[in-house]
Amino acid sequence: MDDRHLDSLELDAVRAGEADVAATAHVASCPACRSEADHLCRLAGLLKDPVVEIPAAVDRAILARFRKLGRRPIWTAAAAAAAVACLGWLAVRPQTSPLDVDRSGRVDIRDAYLLALEIRAGGGRDADGDGLITPKDAEAIARKSVSLERRP
Ligand SMILES: [Zn+2]
Repeated sequence: MDDRHLDSLELDAVRAGEADVAATAHVASCPACRSEADHLCRLAGLLKDPVVEIPAAVDRAILARFRKLGRRPIWTAAAAAAAVACLGWLAVRPQTSPLDVDRSGRVDIRDAYLLALEIRAGGGRDADGDGLITPKDAEAIARKSVSLERRP
């Protein structure tokens, strides 16, 4: 390490614990760099996991939109079910995915949103199979619904 002060990238590496020994030693012995590193730590703390509360009015508007968007698939599903009934649908009735929270016949981002609301209200279900009901369950559905990977 030379005698110069660290730049912001080097200071951030020290903050993240990813800097080399010389840079870490410099920050420990240099009040100016230590002050900058402390500032970066405080800033990183402010940016970490920001909690954004969604106003209830926004939830209601989104749910109303979901209901409006969901009418056609539900109607289509009902028509399809009636047609299948004519053919003995009990034998071929499709299984509903436990991740299909809104029972629309598919797992999509709406299911993730609805599960997040259920979990926030103290309910929900274990979507990621870890035995716990946490916000990660809604995230698991969200990831599956927007994944670019092919699923069987
Ligand atoms: Zn320095």
